[in-house]
Amino acid sequence: MSLIVTKFGGTSLCDLERVQAAAQKVVACRQEGHEVIVVVSAMAGETDKLEDLGYSISTRPDPREMDVLLASGEQVSVALIAMAIQDLGVPAMSYLGNQVPVYTNECHQRARITEVGREELRHSIDQGAIPVVAGFQGVAPTGEITTIGRGGSDTTAVAIAVAMDALECRIYTDVDGVYTADPRIVEQARRMDRVTFEEMLELAALGAKVLHLKSVEYARRYSIPLKVFSSFIDGPGTLIVEEGESMEQPEVSAITFDKNEAKVTVTNVPDIPGIAYQLLGPVGDANISVDMIVQNVSRDERTDLTFTVPRNDFEQSLEILRDQVIRLRREAENPTRYEMEVIGDDAIAKVTAVGLGMRSHAGIATKMFETLAQYGINIQMISTSEIKISVVIHEDFCELAVRMLHSAFDLGTD
Ligand code: ADP
Ligand code: ASP
Ligand code: MG
Repeated sequence: MSLIVTKFGGTSLCDLERVQAAAQKVVACRQEGHEVIVVVSAMAGETDKLEDLGYSISTRPDPREMDVLLASGEQVSVALIAMAIQDLGVPAMSYLGNQVPVYTNECHQRARITEVGREELRHSIDQGAIPVVAGFQGVAPTGEITTIGRGGSDTTAVAIAVAMDALECRIYTDVDGVYTADPRIVEQARRMDRVTFEEMLELAALGAKVLHLKSVEYARRYSIPLKVFSSFIDGPGTLIVEEGESMEQPEVSAITFDKNEAKVTVTNVPDIPGIAYQLLGPVGDANISVDMIVQNVSRDERTDLTFTVPRNDFEQSLEILRDQVIRLRREAENPTRYEMEVIGDDAIAKVTAVGLGMRSHAGIATKMFETLAQYGINIQMISTSEIKISVVIHEDFCELAVRMLHSAFDLGTD
């Protein structure tokens, strides 16, 4: 019998009626003759509430305790879904991460799934039950509860699909597929029937919440068909696929944005070997992931180094860099060479155009800059790769930029 992993996000579980509707979808899938495993997130807004609670009690909450706190959201929803399925006359059993077990490394709040136990889930299915697994959480080899990063339930679902040799992984959410831009921001956004893994990886990495980045990585690596559907309406959804020869390649496929970053600049940096490592090393050591990095050609043997970090890590990044600048100055033979200043700005947004067609179309960057110029939007940073162009702008202009670029690249419905 074919096994299907179905995942329901928080947006699909906003109230008890939606919980019952999700249970009905699960039961319908089983009645079609499939074996089913369900993965769920916390109910809508619950993880945000828990995170706010943590930050209200402590300015820099202990990551271990935050994991214990945040994991509780999914504990509620698995039990409710399991009960709703049972009420439809089908046996179901809820599982927390440590009961499956979903093993992870010990990196609290951004743990990586290392292995998923098959036996418990197999046993449950063989007994005729539908296992309902808590997404987003896992257990470290030490027995510690971990979480795998916000939005991580998609990744739990794909990891379970891989471990259980599932036929496919279905992600049910509040939109009926992957769109050419966030449909909450761009009314004319269009659902794509198919999107390539390569483009989806960029979209997920650059702010499109609809799929968690690691879920796309795992599905690609282990060839698990990954589909996005609405839990509210029936429809064809979006299939994430490998690039095919006959696929149409428009110059730009989608526009995405990310408001969860902040910009840090170190000015007056001496232009000497090893300085980037000396400045960024301690930031990396604190497990802060540095994203766009821009360093200009030096003038008078001085340069500025600018990079972005997750907004939650902004204050800590400034502190680490200021301490490091003081240390470098104190330890230098010639301290006047180290008169650097650390400044930051967290009112930024990164807006990105993604498309496989960029490989073969010229002039896309120019069109993007021209569009932003027409609306008086100042570009603070630029970065490009083979299939994307990202700009950092003031966050107040983010929605305008996304809409205007979406229309400039003709991505919408008529
Ligand atoms: P869930 O709770 O189901 O995991 P998420 O909020 O994580 O749902 O992801 C779904 C949301 O992703 C949608 O409501 C939509 O606003 C947003 N989104 C951003 N970019 C896109 C896109 N390109 N296509 C579809 N949805 C997108
Ligand atoms: N509940 C978690 C979050 O809000 C995980 C998820 O939604 O995928 O981040
Ligand atoms: Mg999500």
